[in-house]
Amino acid sequence: MNRNIYVNAVESILESIQSTQPTEFSRLITRMRGYTPPHRVIASGINKGELAELCLVYGTERNEDPTFWYMTRRGDKVIMGQTGLVQSYEQCNTEGNLNTIIERSNGYGHFRSDKEELSLGDEKLKIELDRIYNAISQLTFYEEDKRDLFEWRSDQVIARFGEFGKFFDDDQIIPEYNDTMVVLTASQGCFGNCIGCPEKGGKYFASNIEQLYEKLERARRVVEKYHGNHMSSMNEGFINASDILLNYFTSQKNTNIPDPITIVKAFYDLFPEIQKMYGFVGTPTVNSTPEHYLKTLHESGLNRVLIGIETAHDATSAFLGKPFSTEQKGKAIRKLQEAGFRKIKGIVMVGATGQGFYDDNGKFQSSWDALEETAEFMKQNMRSLMFKERADKVIISRYVKAEGTELKKLHEEGKVVVPFSSESELEKQVQWLVSEMRKAQIDVEAGYEVALEKRRRLVA
Ligand code: SF4
Repeated sequence: MNRNIYVNAVESILESIQSTQPTEFSRLITRMRGYTPPHRVIASGINKGELAELCLVYGTERNEDPTFWYMTRRGDKVIMGQTGLVQSYEQCNTEGNLNTIIERSNGYGHFRSDKEELSLGDEKLKIELDRIYNAISQLTFYEEDKRDLFEWRSDQVIARFGEFGKFFDDDQIIPEYNDTMVVLTASQGCFGNCIGCPEKGGKYFASNIEQLYEKLERARRVVEKYHGNHMSSMNEGFINASDILLNYFTSQKNTNIPDPITIVKAFYDLFPEIQKMYGFVGTPTVNSTPEHYLKTLHESGLNRVLIGIETAHDATSAFLGKPFSTEQKGKAIRKLQEAGFRKIKGIVMVGATGQGFYDDNGKFQSSWDALEETAEFMKQNMRSLMFKERADKVIISRYVKAEGTELKKLHEEGKVVVPFSSESELEKQVQWLVSEMRKAQIDVEAGYEVALEKRRRLVA
């Protein structure tokens, strides 16, 4: 072959490779906290005369779900979840400082800017969302199957959050609620009597099997409407009930009420894409449920359970209206572990009694003492990261004063409960607990109340 023809052929092959396959690494992702997150470029182009890229950033190293980052050379950065919905948009000003234009911290669709809350109908929100998706639509995609993930318009985003919000009531919280989660409300209310919870009162209504299937079919239609081309991304299911095991007991008296295994199976029937299935359980119900049933419940696919521990200080627990001893709580955790449940998530509440409270005998019960006992309890009962995929997790919930509750009143009166003098006192306890858990190699997260944003319910 003539040398020139050969060179031209090689150059043209190289050019075509370059135009369809970008370099593996982004030219815009800069080192984050000393390292560059693993990623690959899936689209690129020009925005206002400058390079813009869309990258898939793997979450594995940071123990997070993967996210999509749209970046421009000017320094603007948009983060989107696996469904392509915008999670945050930071704009870089002429001095090189980043301003938060919009952000939200969970799947509720509560957007805000760095100055104010933005309602879903806010014009500014609509303009920014349309601007982002228009800019992405101008890029050249190297992975065509991902293009339609970003074909959102602001009105669709707003309608999507509105329709997903109908899966649960305003007073219910979905922990770790994110864009890839489908929620099924299996029951409402609770038999508990916790003085900080607006749901107390002993009312409990469980959906019957027909209602359950109706809800699931409706949910499937809504989820397909917005995520039909990427149903495999919708791989998390949350069974919304203050304690899913209550259904085990009610189903024995009323055969039209589905037991938890039936609920889990029905959920998978309608959503076979689900890989992570979550539900709350409670100390007394775990301890009363036969071991073989818990084992079968786990085998049926309930693979993430959350249990409210709140505190391992018996006097504090009783004061808060949870009359279960530390021994009973430990027994419940061990029983779940033995039944095969992986990653048990134990919720600890910090700040519920401020600096402490005076018990019926006039004795001051310090919250620091309670916290130290709780840290010790968690170290002894939660499986550390050494257990790898069976490691449990401590989720720290900062106390939020819920309207109309007895505990809020006690905090405001400041007689029985001695409130913290400042927010920093609460934060000091949270950070202390985080560091104790980390020292013991126990997975810990201190963002539970993020799920409470605009919500009232505390911990089940
Ligand atoms: S905190 Fe949980 S267990 Fe207590 S009353 Fe509220 S929902 Fe029931």
